[in-house]
Amino acid sequence: MTSEALIPSKELTAELENVKLELPKLQDVKLVAAVPQLVRSEIFKTEHKQVAVLCMFQPGYPDVPLVTEIKSKTLGYKFLQGLAKVCDTEAKKQLGKPQVLHIVQFVSSFLDGNPLCVCADEISLVKEKLSKEKDEVKLKQKSSQVTLKICQEEYFLNLRITVPDDYPLSQVTPEITDHNFPEFLRTNFQAQATETARQCVQPPLKKKPKDPPFVPKPSLRPVAEYVIDCVQKYPLETCPLCNERALPVDPTNESATKGKHRVEKIYCGHLFHLICLTKYMKKPPFSEGKFCPACGKQIFHDKFKVSAKTLEDRWAHKQAKQRELEEVVDFLD
Ligand SMILES: [Zn+2]
Ligand SMILES: [Zn+2]
Repeated sequence: MTSEALIPSKELTAELENVKLELPKLQDVKLVAAVPQLVRSEIFKTEHKQVAVLCMFQPGYPDVPLVTEIKSKTLGYKFLQGLAKVCDTEAKKQLGKPQVLHIVQFVSSFLDGNPLCVCADEISLVKEKLSKEKDEVKLKQKSSQVTLKICQEEYFLNLRITVPDDYPLSQVTPEITDHNFPEFLRTNFQAQATETARQCVQPPLKKKPKDPPFVPKPSLRPVAEYVIDCVQKYPLETCPLCNERALPVDPTNESATKGKHRVEKIYCGHLFHLICLTKYMKKPPFSEGKFCPACGKQIFHDKFKVSAKTLEDRWAHKQAKQRELEEVVDFLD
């Protein structure tokens, strides 16, 4: 800082007096210091949305713009950098005039008008996961929502994430608004996304004695990334039993997912053709259970909740039937 700035001009002295008087009247704003070098104020919106605004005077002020620095313990660095840059542009519009009140007011209303600033860093990380040309991320600041369009080949899914006022203490609300996946997968994605959000802010239901104290964490990115992973993965997944695509390549081909072509998601997360799975589950050996050929985990499925003994009996019965049939065929020969 040069000596020129330390000896306040008449204009600066008058502005500082006015700042001391007017700034504390602004909503959510607290004046910390108003000296010839800088004005420091604090803006408090919520626990996680609070900033310190430093307006620094340069030699030649107010014919040169203020330099603004914005600090926060809770908001992301990238966002704060961006906001400071916008403040520079704002200050330039006020050349020759008092700038401090204008800037502080600008920052305050920017925070009000951009509720998604609490998850700005998360949003940019989510954007990095979406590389495809057809993918989209839209921010709706008015309704505090982020909408994603996620695509994989011919499949797509639209996800709307609502960010609450007291984020990240409360969880985001994910909602699948449109898609062309089979309905059972939508239900599954939706339930898992909601559960992922819940787990970010609520302690586990069964607490282990050695667990560290639970701390809520931001839920937007985990939820978005879970759904992005699903959309990117499942259209390409093959049935571990026949090695063909589990879902039809063409999502509009509905007959390809009906009846014996139905697709099932089993406990481990892998997709199977129902027809392949049925064949596999009804074939011995049964005694040690049946395992997913893709990951080795045991297969649990409502449709096949039958004991090994029953399966063994059924198999024996089928074999006997087959022998009978063969005998009949032999007889006919
Ligand atoms: Zn198959
Ligand atoms: Zn598996």
